[in-house]
Amino acid sequence: MIYDFVVIGGGMAGVSVGAELAAHASVRVLEMESQPGYHSTGRSAALFAEAYGNKVIRSLTRASRAFFFAPPAAFTAQTLVNPRAVLFTAREGQAAQLEHLLDSSSQEIALERIAPAAAAELLPILRREELIGAAVDHNAADIEVHELLQGYLRELRRQGGILTSAAAVTRLSRHATNWQVETTSGTFEGKVVVNAAGAWAGAIAHLAGALPVGLTPLRRSACLIDGPANVSVAQWPMLIDAAEQFYLKPDAGRLLLSPADETPAPPGDAQPDDLDIAIAVDRLEEATTLKVSKIHHQWAGLRSFVSDRSPVTGYDPLQPGFFWHAALGGYGIQTAPALSRVAALLALKRPIEEDLLSHGVDTAELAPTRLAGPRA
Ligand SMILES: Cc1cc2nc3c(=O)[nH]c(=O)nc-3n(C[C@H](O)[C@H](O)[C@H](O)COP(=O)(O)OP(=O)(O)OC[C@H]3O[C@@H](n4cnc5c(N)ncnc54)[C@H](O)[C@@H]3O)c2cc1C
Repeated sequence: MIYDFVVIGGGMAGVSVGAELAAHASVRVLEMESQPGYHSTGRSAALFAEAYGNKVIRSLTRASRAFFFAPPAAFTAQTLVNPRAVLFTAREGQAAQLEHLLDSSSQEIALERIAPAAAAELLPILRREELIGAAVDHNAADIEVHELLQGYLRELRRQGGILTSAAAVTRLSRHATNWQVETTSGTFEGKVVVNAAGAWAGAIAHLAGALPVGLTPLRRSACLIDGPANVSVAQWPMLIDAAEQFYLKPDAGRLLLSPADETPAPPGDAQPDDLDIAIAVDRLEEATTLKVSKIHHQWAGLRSFVSDRSPVTGYDPLQPGFFWHAALGGYGIQTAPALSRVAALLALKRPIEEDLLSHGVDTAELAPTRLAGPRA
């Protein structure tokens, strides 16, 4: 069979765009691991925050809000998000970063400036005397990432799309107008190949002879720690320091702590570095009264970026029938509902729908062609 679309990658990007495409076309999603979501998608901090990321990300996040907060009944019977405030705090030397954050606040993204005393009331472990300013975003939320991915998998299958796991793409070649996609589980043929391979998207582009977009995977580490004894942390806000040196977020009765590291790393099964975890603990203990006595679990994942930190979504300028859906950085979960729709519309060569445009989504800012230059 010749598929309309062969999607490479069974993470949030591949599964969500596969589900959107399957409503209009035949789709086969190929995932090299034995289960979807094993890499970046399964390792995120699960945050939805409209104040996070650059202008392009913010538009896509705003355009995703309605789906997260009121998903279609056919997609899931469960909630996809649970409200969670995000508290940004500034200590000595971080005033400029806090002002920058507040400056970028707008009618759509209501960041509220609050006094250090109010911040310490919201999060009692903060060292009040160290704070020089704070802001709070009351419109953020925790995302149920597993349920979101499962919802897209159900949609994919309901519309006749197929996910094949344990199928690592090893070779791509073009015969007449179709692509031959060779994998460790057989060869598949498609009119269009969708490159949703996360940290491996650069390698897949290389196999196809597509544009080198300069994708860089950056490792980010995280761990789970306890809150103070006999204190429920469930309703605490997420804490991000204005210079993004660390963040702390309630997670299933414990606290997720990350040093917000961005270490270049090759595509692979990212592992946390003990030093990065130690740095996170150090920064947390400096900013709060919490003492970390035990790390329950630690992990790392890759966040892949191009130079302008916006996604790469659109047809490749060098290879016909090669479609990019990659470079989702640290935002691939919170932007998935809008970005997968934009990706599917572009791949199907259909106009972008009005609700997406009304949030400021601009496909030129996503197009791989923007990255074609002296490097290519
Ligand atoms: C610590 C951390 C915290 C984060 N926090 C947030 C957050 O709070 N909010 C948010 O929105 N985002 C967050 N992110 C970012 C988010 O996780 C990513 O943007 C998103 O998961 C990217 O999805 P993806 O499908 O592109 O990549 P992946 O999930 O990595 O999927 C790519 C898939 O392609 C497959 N693949 C690769 N090569 C091949 C091949 N040759 N053949 C077949 N399959 C192949 C891989 O096995 C993989 O499953 C975070 C990331 C990390 C690491």
